[in-house]
Amino acid sequence: MQGGLEKNLPKRAIVLDAAALILGFTEIEDAVAVTSSKVLEEARDRDARYRALAAREGGLIKVIEPEPAYVSEVREVARRLGEIELSDADVSVIALALQLSRQGWDTCILTSDYSIQNLASRLGLMVKPILHKGIRRMISWEVYCGACGWSGDGKPGNPCPKCGHALKRRPRRESG
Ligand SMILES: [Zn+2]
Repeated sequence: MQGGLEKNLPKRAIVLDAAALILGFTEIEDAVAVTSSKVLEEARDRDARYRALAAREGGLIKVIEPEPAYVSEVREVARRLGEIELSDADVSVIALALQLSRQGWDTCILTSDYSIQNLASRLGLMVKPILHKGIRRMISWEVYCGACGWSGDGKPGNPCPKCGHALKRRPRRESG
């Protein structure tokens, strides 16, 4: 396992979200598994205490906090795409991957979350979906009214400008 080749391998990092942690993705060859402390907290809340902590204590997963500049950048892109349901932990996963990628790491996010996949794709980050197949194309959200059919610029939950019903959102259909 040890040899002179090792130093020539690219630096590879797999960034885990809470679902990946809970599922116990710790056996990753030729790559460093990393996550943020917010993800660990979220995993603990979902009662993955054993795996998350065991992995961390075993040194299998490195906990790295993304720098604030990357967090801001991800939040800004999320806002523009209407990805308003991302948790702090989700944002930290993407920010961490963005940071490592800019620092020259070959980076991949392991996640089951569509919003994370969508945003990561927009940022040019590699994503490995777990539990289900990845999104076929990138999603933009469209805000619409389920009562009168209005759609346009608005915020989900706000009243429809035509009829006052609460607005919802759906993936925008892209041609092709
Ligand atoms: Zn309406």
